[in-house]
Amino acid sequence: MWKNLLNKVKWKITELKQKREFKRKIKTEKIIQKNEEKEKKIEEKSKAVVVESKKITESGAVNQSINTRYSNRFLNKERRKSYSYRKGKGICVRCKQKSLPGIIFCEFHQQKQQTYNYRSRHKSV
Ligand SMILES: [Zn+2]
Repeated sequence: MWKNLLNKVKWKITELKQKREFKRKIKTEKIIQKNEEKEKKIEEKSKAVVVESKKITESGAVNQSINTRYSNRFLNKERRKSYSYRKGKGICVRCKQKSLPGIIFCEFHQQKQQTYNYRSRHKSV
């Protein structure tokens, strides 16, 4: 009798252990599956991010070139504007001092320009 009972209990215990192990296995498998799914999702997301960043850099590069072109044009316009403005106002085009009468430079820049002209002329000859 007692032996039988003991055997029954043992058997139950082993059964319970097996069930627990089985549950654990299922749990771990589920966790692994979840992790794999997460990794897949992360990979997909990172791929999407890479694609988006590529798009951004492409559009950004295009925008930059447009911007630089535009800003250069703008600067040239501004320079021309200020050049003629200073010429009309009698201000040196290289600095903010008053220019000499009939010349677009101040005394200092007139001299600089003259030396520059002298050098360039004597170089070419
Ligand atoms: Zn000047």
